[in-house]
Amino acid sequence: MEPIKKTEEQWKQELGEEKYRILRQGGTEPAYTGEYFKEHAKGVYKCAACGQELFSSDTKFDSDTGWPSFTEAMNRENVDLVADNSHGMTRVEVRCKRCGSHLGHVFNDGPKDKGGKRFCINSACLKLQKN
Ligand code: FE
Repeated sequence: MEPIKKTEEQWKQELGEEKYRILRQGGTEPAYTGEYFKEHAKGVYKCAACGQELFSSDTKFDSDTGWPSFTEAMNRENVDLVADNSHGMTRVEVRCKRCGSHLGHVFNDGPKDKGGKRFCINSACLKLQKN
């Protein structure tokens, strides 16, 4: 995997203001507003910034949180899990390993029969390629 490096000015131009705020500045889209929280189509969710394959629809589940939720990444090699102590909380941030963009967080309250993880990902960080 070849890391992707761009200046913040390049990212801003490519992504537009809202995606830039979420992907490059660690922002969060408001719950129940994104494109994919209700999506049930089969396919592969790619990084909205660099196109890296990140999540499969096979691991997507309805968490009723208002954000797309997955029990696992397609490949752990494609994501970075980083300790995040911002906002007075101890959380684990999920980033795209290829471009370093923020994707969301992973929590331990996912479905127990599927490993117990909940990857809580912003729709704005994903681009679904349907099968
Ligand atoms: Fe990426």
